[in-house]
Amino acid sequence: MILVSACLLNHPVRYKGDGNPCPLLLELLAKGKGEEIFPFCPEVSGGLPTPRPPAEIKGGTGADVLQLKAKVVNKEGQDVTAAFIDGAQKCAQLCMEKGITVAILKQRSPSCGSKAIYDGTFSSKIIAGQGVTAALLTSIGIKVYGEDDLTPELLEKLL
Ligand code: SF4
Repeated sequence: MILVSACLLNHPVRYKGDGNPCPLLLELLAKGKGEEIFPFCPEVSGGLPTPRPPAEIKGGTGADVLQLKAKVVNKEGQDVTAAFIDGAQKCAQLCMEKGITVAILKQRSPSCGSKAIYDGTFSSKIIAGQGVTAALLTSIGIKVYGEDDLTPELLEKLL
């Protein structure tokens, strides 16, 4: 089983209240592979509402947030670090319980980004680094891909 960012399967969990569908993943669902895919949204599981103000990591990356060296702050200036860490921990726990070793997560999200995230200035600038959940999953040995890594060949190998 593979864990997938719920928004990539068009679940309406993004901060704007919509989804961010990935055609390759939707195709898998249409082919009846739904039982091998576990949708999860760490921000909603961490207790944040939908819709919600957008948030970015300030002063570092997801790994820094987990070490309490950086914070996640929303566009209204509220510190939402605790909810992001809670969602990441719930995601890691679920992967361990279900024996999930691979995740496909939404690139650039402060939770789910696997290689790139926004820089914390809400100016669309991107920096290298992982979101909070991607960093925690990586630290416990889960292989994390972004939707931008996906090819039909890779998906066939993973499922
Ligand atoms: S936290 Fe992850 S799953 Fe949830 S909306 Fe953001 S990118 Fe999608």
